[in-house]
Amino acid sequence: MKSNKSLVLILGDQLGLEGAALRGFDFKNHEVLMVESIPEAQYVWSHKAKIALFLSAMRHFANKLKELQYPLTYIQKSPLSIVDALKEKIVREQIGHLICVEPGEWRLKQEIEALASELSIELEMRSDDHFYCSREEFVAWASDKKELRLEYFYRLMRKTHGILIDADGNPEGGQWNFDQDNRKPYPKKGPGIIEAPVFFEPDPITREVLEFVNETYASHPGSLDDFRWPVSREQALEGLNYFVEYRLRNFGVFQDAMWTDTPFGWHSILSSSLNLKLLNPREVIDAVLSAWKQYSLDLSTVEGFIRQILGWREFVRGMYYLDMPKMAQDNYYDHQRQLPKWYWSGNTQMACMKDAIGQTLQYGYAHHIQRLMVTGNFALLAEILPSEVCDWYLAIYVDAIEWVELPNTAGMALFANGGRFTSKPYIASGAYIKRMSNYCGSCQYKPDVRFGETACPITTLYWNFLIKHREQFDASPRTRLMTANLKRISPEDQSAIVDHAQYLLNHLDDL
Ligand SMILES: Cc1cc2nc3c(=O)[nH]c(=O)nc-3n(C[C@H](O)[C@H](O)[C@H](O)COP(=O)(O)OP(=O)(O)OC[C@H]3O[C@@H](n4cnc5c(N)ncnc54)[C@H](O)[C@@H]3O)c2cc1C
Ligand code: SF4
Repeated sequence: MKSNKSLVLILGDQLGLEGAALRGFDFKNHEVLMVESIPEAQYVWSHKAKIALFLSAMRHFANKLKELQYPLTYIQKSPLSIVDALKEKIVREQIGHLICVEPGEWRLKQEIEALASELSIELEMRSDDHFYCSREEFVAWASDKKELRLEYFYRLMRKTHGILIDADGNPEGGQWNFDQDNRKPYPKKGPGIIEAPVFFEPDPITREVLEFVNETYASHPGSLDDFRWPVSREQALEGLNYFVEYRLRNFGVFQDAMWTDTPFGWHSILSSSLNLKLLNPREVIDAVLSAWKQYSLDLSTVEGFIRQILGWREFVRGMYYLDMPKMAQDNYYDHQRQLPKWYWSGNTQMACMKDAIGQTLQYGYAHHIQRLMVTGNFALLAEILPSEVCDWYLAIYVDAIEWVELPNTAGMALFANGGRFTSKPYIASGAYIKRMSNYCGSCQYKPDVRFGETACPITTLYWNFLIKHREQFDASPRTRLMTANLKRISPEDQSAIVDHAQYLLNHLDDL
């Protein structure tokens, strides 16, 4: 005989009081369940800071629920998976009704559905209204499109939600996209003074978590020495307010710029707070729109930022659910190499990779261009098996949850789905990295040398990639220009590039 009680499962990335799980909560007959699962942080080799952030944020949220008198079972340090801990509770207490919000990970969604059917309980999996665009709306939008492209989806979002739309229904400033103004490197002398992002000293709850993580996950990658991430809604809001007041003004123009020992640039550092649902994207966009007027910010920076939240973040989520589980298996180029070991240590001679991976291990953070055009670009050019690369990204960034990590890695960085939502592979030679950073100045390799001992491995592998896929690149107007440059390289040099690339590919761990 099943009890009348309903169980409300809240996952570690669903930490908003306004979340759909708590809607209509009946304090007499509903009970919240939260589970800290030790194995959950082990199925990919997660960065210590990522584990600590989730656990600390969960404990802060649990305290908030207790303050508000929610009946709550909070299982600390469970040796069981989330689903096994859930099963144990349901069976023990004969629960007949489970409420949850759809998980941001396909695997977990399948497992919860399978459990409900195994135990014959009623499952009420609510859609996640944290997002502007529901899954159904995205499917409807995608259904009649020949090509799934961010730009058109983003315009629709702008119109639907009246964001940066003028009184006549046109885009503010007369254009949808200010990307051309937003791609500058830092000045030659360096980035100058950048207002540091706001960070938070660990409180007693976080300190306890840090100790636990250091003991339990001692062999995991990354450091906790600089753990300063926002772990509560209050801190996340402070981070948002600080960003719009001090850092948004230069976000746009230097969005793609990189510089040694400048891990955060002018970026917002809001992704983890958004993804844990400590912040709602609507309040982020509202804050940015108010700051635009209050501080007379450039429209290009404001549009550039809103595009990330209202465009890319919503778009990749839609793509994830549209294409899973296939997205996780796609391997368009049939790449099979293993991820070089130095992705986990930063121990490489390549200055750009060393800096991007080094800061990743220190903070669990790298900005978009470092992820896309440094570590991602290399992984594609070095023909690494996509699932190995995806596991690394999922493990190593504090903001990594599969719905956002996988489309960015497999779809955008690796072209593993053959361009389902990008028109061409994002590849670049060392020349791009030289233009957008100061990395090459301190590197033992030379970005303009294509083969030989001093050649930049990224440059060699870039030309090798173009030579290998020449026919395919020639066939598309979007990529033809890239292979056209091969005409300027003699057949002898092309063959030297291919030989040198083969050597590099066989010695990736030594780079
Ligand atoms: C290979 C690869 C893997 C990535 N993995 C993740 C991930 O696991 N989690 C994650 O949140 N983002 C991921 N991104 C997207 C992006 O790099 C991060 O959102 C961003 O670097 C986070 O830093 P920030 O908060 O300072 O972002 P900002 O540069 O300040 O951007 C503002 C916000 O826009 C959103 N945003 C920006 N770009 C994207 C994007 N491409 N997709 C979705 N949202 C975006 C984020 O919420 C971010 O906080 C990945 C990108 C690449 C290329
Ligand atoms: S020379 Fe090549 S490997 Fe070295 S920093 Fe520049 S792009 Fe990176």
